[in-house]
Amino acid sequence: MIRRKWAVLLLVGILLLTATGCGPKEPEAPAADKTADVIVVGGGGAGLAAAVSAAENGASVILVEKASNLGGNTLVSGGVMNAVDPERQKNVSMNDALLNELKSLLERDESEFGDFAPAFRTLKEQITEYLEGDTSVLFDSVELHMIHTYLGGTRTDLQGNTISPEYDLIEVLCNNALGAIEWLEGYGQEFSDEIGTVLGALWPRTHSTGGGRAYIDTLSGVAEDLGVEILLETAGKELITEDGRVVGVKAAQADGTELILRANNGVVLATGGFGENPEMRAQYNTYWPEMPLTMPSTNIPTANGDGITMAQQVGADLVGMGFIQLMPSSDPETGVLFNGLWGSAETQVFINKQGKRFVNEYAERDVLAKAALEQEDGLFFIICDAQIAGDRNLDHLIEAEDVIKADTLEELAEKIGVPVETFVAEIEKYNSYVDAQHDPDFGKSNFGNYKITTGPFYATPRSPSVHHTMGGLKIDTQARVISTEGQPIAGLYAAGEVGGGIHAGNRLGGNAITDILVFGRIAGESAAQKK
Ligand SMILES: Cc1cc2nc3c(=O)[nH]c(=O)nc-3n(C[C@H](O)[C@H](O)[C@H](O)COP(=O)(O)OP(=O)(O)OC[C@H]3O[C@@H](n4cnc5c(N)ncnc54)[C@H](O)[C@@H]3O)c2cc1C
Repeated sequence: MIRRKWAVLLLVGILLLTATGCGPKEPEAPAADKTADVIVVGGGGAGLAAAVSAAENGASVILVEKASNLGGNTLVSGGVMNAVDPERQKNVSMNDALLNELKSLLERDESEFGDFAPAFRTLKEQITEYLEGDTSVLFDSVELHMIHTYLGGTRTDLQGNTISPEYDLIEVLCNNALGAIEWLEGYGQEFSDEIGTVLGALWPRTHSTGGGRAYIDTLSGVAEDLGVEILLETAGKELITEDGRVVGVKAAQADGTELILRANNGVVLATGGFGENPEMRAQYNTYWPEMPLTMPSTNIPTANGDGITMAQQVGADLVGMGFIQLMPSSDPETGVLFNGLWGSAETQVFINKQGKRFVNEYAERDVLAKAALEQEDGLFFIICDAQIAGDRNLDHLIEAEDVIKADTLEELAEKIGVPVETFVAEIEKYNSYVDAQHDPDFGKSNFGNYKITTGPFYATPRSPSVHHTMGGLKIDTQARVISTEGQPIAGLYAAGEVGGGIHAGNRLGGNAITDILVFGRIAGESAAQKK
């Protein structure tokens, strides 16, 4: 009703102005149904981090979430995240394979590292010093995390465009990763003391907290305590601008009611990626030879790219849109991620339908996905044994045939339909590579000390599916959205998967949760302070 009245008044106003010869003027922003200092659009990890951070900075906050619950992809994620963390990492032993990788970095020239040359120079000094001392404990540093993010993210697409992570953003990401963990710990969230390597993370610096739900529980609890108003089933539709500044959001509730939300200080877009928007994937993809509309994804249904579209309408620049991450190890039918059995990346062994390994399982996700797509039916099995299963109850997975279990390797080969002798010989060969800490076939760069020896044995069938959209809104280190003219758009901020430029061509496993927390916090603070 209020909206209709406003529309009539606006029309009369325009007619009067035209009649008096004043010429066209930017329409005034509509009267607000609700006002707060900061409006956050999207209630996943980045949006909640931004809302809490804005409230910590003294702002009143309204958060709108399109779904009927908070959480987004963050809620369904594994929740593991990368951070350099000397305290926890001191419990991780160094091994020969990782040591060799460090040494091989010393042989590279800084000219290979583009904008990241200063970080690489510092890293070389750190590695040299480390090699002169005690090498029994794992080496890590913020610079190594930055260099891994650079190497993992620098990619060239099918049209010959090369993209790299943006140095300034990565410096912020890696320097603030541990701080993000400590921030959540301050609110009572617990992180395990064990460090692993999630698939495609490239180094043991992955922390776990018992799943993505932990972030949502913590942050939504704190948001409530700090007085953040949360509107569920309310979708951001359009940004409202006034004199070139973003001053609010038009939103729609599930029953179609329109809502005008006015922001005194700023609007934060945190609507996630476009993994569940097949048309948008097909429109932008420049990395994969094929991106069928029917390709399954690991994502929730509301990952539709709304924030990207909304910001484009007010002149936002986009970066890296063609680069979409396929998760190599998803359910072949549904794309679901967690209905299988495997351990940290160094323990994973991939076997194809011919009973053979086909890739360095410790490599980046795009390397793994490309290799998997080249296998018969794009299908492979993750093989592991009782040491990985531990005391987990797998009955439901085995019953559903998501996981295949057998007492011997021979029986497992028969059950999954691969040539028995080839398979058994391949596992024995792999075990010998673990002993030698050297993989002459595929150059696996970390094995831990895990060999497949102890029955029962398990196989999980896997195929690549759409997982993460690396491209999105161009932002700066203050999470301000940058226009196509290269300037910050006043009043507009973004964080999380809606943004681009951080993960560039291929995201390291475990870097997305770090991203949403680090840049979610920054976006909230920037918006509260009208930066
Ligand atoms: C199955 C799975 C497992 C993963 N595991 C990991 C992991 O272990 N570690 C890691 O680093 N990364 C992982 N990722 C990636 C990571 O979880 C995501 O990149 C990250 O959580 C995205 O956070 P976000 O806040 O940007 O978006 P989301 O968490 O997706 O939140 C966006 C929210 O915005 C809402 N929204 C969308 N449009 C609108 C609109 N118009 N108006 C209002 N609200 C809107 C959505 O409903 C959603 O709630 C995983 C992803 C998936 C799918």
